[in-house]
Amino acid sequence: MAFPAKQPQPFHQRPIAALKGVGPSIAAKLEKLGLRTAFDLLLHLPLRWQDRTRITPIGALVVGDSCVVQGEVLHSEITIRKRRMLLVQISDGTGMRLMLRYFRFSKAQQDNLPRGKVVRVFGEVRRSAVGFEMIHPEVRSISEDKPLALEASLTPVYPATEGLSQNKLRSLIEGLLVELRQKPALLHDPLPATARQQAPACSLVEALLNLHQPPPDVSQRPLLAGETQWQQRLAFDELLAHALSMQQRRAMAHSQQGVALARVSTQRQQFLAGLGFTLTSAQQKVAATIEDDLTRPQPAMRLVQGDVGSGKTVVAALAALQAIANGEQALLMAPTELLAEQHAANFNKWLAPLGVEPVLLRGRSKKAEREAAYAAPMVVGTHALFQADMAFKNPAVVIVDEQHRFGVHQRLALRDKREDGRLPHQIIMTATPIPRTLAMTGYADLDYSVIDELPPGRQPIKTVVMANERRLELAERIGAACAAGEQAYWVCTLVEESDALQAEAAEDAASWLAEQLPDVRVGLVHGRLKPEQKELVMQAFKAAELDLLVATTVVEVGVDVPNASLMIIENAERLGLAQLHQLRGRVGRGSRQSHCVLTYQAPLSENAKTRLNTMRDTTDGFAIAEADLKIRGPGEVMGTKQSGEMNYKVADLERDRHWLPVVKDLALELLNQEPAAATILVERWMGAKTQYADVG
Ligand code: ADP
Ligand code: MG
Repeated sequence: MAFPAKQPQPFHQRPIAALKGVGPSIAAKLEKLGLRTAFDLLLHLPLRWQDRTRITPIGALVVGDSCVVQGEVLHSEITIRKRRMLLVQISDGTGMRLMLRYFRFSKAQQDNLPRGKVVRVFGEVRRSAVGFEMIHPEVRSISEDKPLALEASLTPVYPATEGLSQNKLRSLIEGLLVELRQKPALLHDPLPATARQQAPACSLVEALLNLHQPPPDVSQRPLLAGETQWQQRLAFDELLAHALSMQQRRAMAHSQQGVALARVSTQRQQFLAGLGFTLTSAQQKVAATIEDDLTRPQPAMRLVQGDVGSGKTVVAALAALQAIANGEQALLMAPTELLAEQHAANFNKWLAPLGVEPVLLRGRSKKAEREAAYAAPMVVGTHALFQADMAFKNPAVVIVDEQHRFGVHQRLALRDKREDGRLPHQIIMTATPIPRTLAMTGYADLDYSVIDELPPGRQPIKTVVMANERRLELAERIGAACAAGEQAYWVCTLVEESDALQAEAAEDAASWLAEQLPDVRVGLVHGRLKPEQKELVMQAFKAAELDLLVATTVVEVGVDVPNASLMIIENAERLGLAQLHQLRGRVGRGSRQSHCVLTYQAPLSENAKTRLNTMRDTTDGFAIAEADLKIRGPGEVMGTKQSGEMNYKVADLERDRHWLPVVKDLALELLNQEPAAATILVERWMGAKTQYADVG
């Protein structure tokens, strides 16, 4: 019986261990580089390229380049100056000599380089005392009867790992390239013609062949910068694949059953009338969008961005109201217990006219208290609490406040199902603005609204940066401010995460300040205080019974005391931009001119200098987020570095951001019209990464 001819598998379905020349040990090493399929290996692009395609005359060498030189050995000797070494001079008749320098060499190597022999060498050109030299170049001898061919293309240098040599990688990839050249259909371009018009004008196969083996005349600068058509084509496909998988998640979420919540105009009017202020038009717009979302039978997933102090809480409360007034349940998750308490107090005040009393869940809440919360109309607690095993009966609206470090993975896991199996609407309020680029990639599965306006009367906070030594001067300033009826925060920072050490530092600062400022009423909060103690101090500060609040970074997010107008952050160089912006956002919440003082311990690193200058120069959260992205990179900013969600193989969000709007639209189009193409792209580029779309 004849077997049918075996069809070669597409590259992205071919496990790397199935490749010729890959045994279990090599497979393990490839895996370490994140390479699991033949397609991954094809995408293992060179870090740089060597030019072995031409011979450079010694007279034309440029220091720093790696070149091929061919010449005759003029002189060869072993010297023992500082170190024993072999020195070989070669000449190619261009009038200059090239020195080859070997610190490690065998007798055979020396014998191989006798005077008069013609050799071809490859190495990096360095300046020497008398001209040019190469250290430990590769050498091959030339003889008339067997001429040595030059390479036809640039030579790739791959990211390698221990036990996996350049040569091994080159030969494995070369094997795939040979196959690709013979059967380009193995990597067919899934994009329909109309879509291809929007992509860089080069095929996938062309891109890969040229990146692994660039033609000799290519200019290396754009190649190294990732700006060639070839790299751009791959980046385009990769960004498109990411956009597709995001859209797929979104479609999946939308295909689920949600809870349609009718508008509750009467209660809404009543709520707004009791606020004591009018919503800004930005708040009104976002609140109306959410109101609309909630009336639909599909579960909403909306990200609400708004700078610190823009008034996100009220918007969240309106969403909660819509659930409660429909007889359903609303959950509000805050990042800290302090903030959960503040929210519970606010919601209590706001919802009292409706006869609803929010249940506050704390870390220490007893089992019975938790169980009582399962059916309560409104529950407030920390993120951590809600992630624990809780069995809420009928959440219809889940609000995640001041959150932006959650990746897609956790986001989906948070979506508790209701008893009836339907999914609640979810609204995420971000703590810090997210740069547009990131929002378009990391959060593309969410709907997106911005509260782009601050309540009226706010004045931009004035920020100064000063060295720690001027502490005494600062204390005087606090004294003067408090005497004038202002309130101030003094935030102590420590690099250690230890609560105990942080608490100690805050205690020291508080007692020093109390000593310096006998007329100032000083309070202290840190993570080691019991929750009731924390609450008492916060309430006293809120009621202006304390003038100065010394705190650890527990006051980082959300805390709202509008009368406070002076913020001092000690050792601000230790904190990241997002954190500094959040902390500073504790002031500037009233109509009074607010000030922020950032003190630092010299010497400052370059990054720290940039951070402090950014803080001094702007209060705009979006500008700060952009600066943060530049300093830390997308993975860190999104907190997804470990989870690998935002790790791109080829694309660079900064360099390639111009593709983002294009791929976003194209992704929608493909999903509707070319689902097969979409599947191939996602499989190729995302591979195993897409699996956790099932979570939740
Ligand atoms: P954030 O967006 O940082 O969460 P909050 O919701 O805590 O901001 O609001 C900041 C402060 O502004 C609070 O004291 C809040 O009561 C007040 N506030 C919110 N909206 C308005 C408004 N439209 N007019 C006046 N004050 C407002
Ligand atoms: Mg808030």
